[in-house]
Amino acid sequence: MAYVITEACIGVKDASCVTVCPVDCIHPAPGEADFEAQEQLFIDPEVCIDCGACQPECPVAAIYPAEEVPAALVAYIEKNAAYYRR
Ligand code: SF4
Repeated sequence: MAYVITEACIGVKDASCVTVCPVDCIHPAPGEADFEAQEQLFIDPEVCIDCGACQPECPVAAIYPAEEVPAALVAYIEKNAAYYRR
């Protein structure tokens, strides 16, 4: 499993999570080509090592382990993965 960024990130993109991720799997990061174009950040489920470091850094509590994503937000599991299949 992996961690997932959900709806609360939309329009916020605080990106504190990017700084603490030990495997650089949260994108687009500030300064990357599509940071302005994307409404939120996404976690690459193929790279995330489930360390949990990002979750407490998020000021809007947008990050959950995949198995704990609230029912209303489960579509974000696929949204995160889809970003990395483009
Ligand atoms: Fe990165 Fe760890 Fe968060 Fe996965 S759980 S996105 S590896 S900081």
